[in-house]
Amino acid sequence: MANHLARRCGQPNGAMLESDMKKLQAKTLTDADVIKVIARVGGSLFAIQDAFAPIPHQVVLAKLRSMLKRKLLTGCDCGCRGDFSVRTP
Ligand SMILES: [Zn+2]
Repeated sequence: MANHLARRCGQPNGAMLESDMKKLQAKTLTDADVIKVIARVGGSLFAIQDAFAPIPHQVVLAKLRSMLKRKLLTGCDCGCRGDFSVRTP
């Protein structure tokens, strides 16, 4: 949790055209894809985003947010490293 203040949210990871964003919505990533990647690379937001390249970081973050909301994952979407993990029932 100490990492949360080190990096503020809203920092764009790269310029992204709005039209590109619309083409690549979070729904192009499946829950299973994300769970598999977390098992492989760990829970760091940046490692997860890199694993999905060339899918834009913002799209990956949006997907993680949607999974957090549905309680499939635990972690933090503020823009810090996240520490995501798969929530076990
Ligand atoms: Zn955070």
